[in-house]
Amino acid sequence: MFPIIFVSLGPGEAELITLKGLKALQNADCIFCPETPARDGRLLSRAADIMLQLDIPADHIYRFSLPMSKQRMDALNAYDQVYAAALSLHHAGKRVAIVAEGDTGFYSSIHYIYEKLQAGGTPVEQIAGIPAFIAAGARGGLHIASQEERLTVIPGITTADEIEQLIQSRSTVVIMKLSQCTDEVHRCIRLHPEYDYHYFENVGTPQEKYICDTRQIEALHFPYFSLIIIRHNSF
Ligand code: SAH
Repeated sequence: MFPIIFVSLGPGEAELITLKGLKALQNADCIFCPETPARDGRLLSRAADIMLQLDIPADHIYRFSLPMSKQRMDALNAYDQVYAAALSLHHAGKRVAIVAEGDTGFYSSIHYIYEKLQAGGTPVEQIAGIPAFIAAGARGGLHIASQEERLTVIPGITTADEIEQLIQSRSTVVIMKLSQCTDEVHRCIRLHPEYDYHYFENVGTPQEKYICDTRQIEALHFPYFSLIIIRHNSF
């Protein structure tokens, strides 16, 4: 029986999927793919957009609604339904794939399904992908970590003080899920205008932004698909 394959789609630009990931999608009969409601009620799926650009047939794509609420239980309920549907298709001999943006093993809650399948003895496989911060680094022409430098990646739950400590300990800092710490990043900019700030939004899509000017970053309201790379420019 074919394993259920977790395919990493890359950050948003269709060409940034791996060849292995693309082949897995082309060979799959059913591909589970998250979509989320936008403020205006429309259902959006960056994952589906990427696959359609890669000419994956729309009728192979099974969209499921992933609530954006902070309540993890809501997402887990949605994942439990995908788990059950994926498992029954797998038992019916179908080739099943489940996708996530960026890398499926990097801040990707869908990994919950992988762990549940694995715990139940279902064969699973995970295909690596380019995480958003690596794509962002390339977009900005950055050497994200060089020689003895350290790199710390943190989710949006942070403070200006923590960022300061990390930079003082000579680490470059990547902050994902930036919309959760807008005020603290703005405060850090006011406290430390001397750091280098590289702000990225919607990397690899037509809405992409790359901004280094701190005044402009301070005026921004960070959306969900944004991240920042902060460096001490004199290290
Ligand atoms: N698995 C993903 C990360 C998911 S967590 C990966 O490997 O990249 C979601 C966070 O990723 C977002 O809040 C944002 O900080 C970042 N992100 C994902 N795609 C992005 C993009 N195209 N541009 C900027 N940030 C992105």
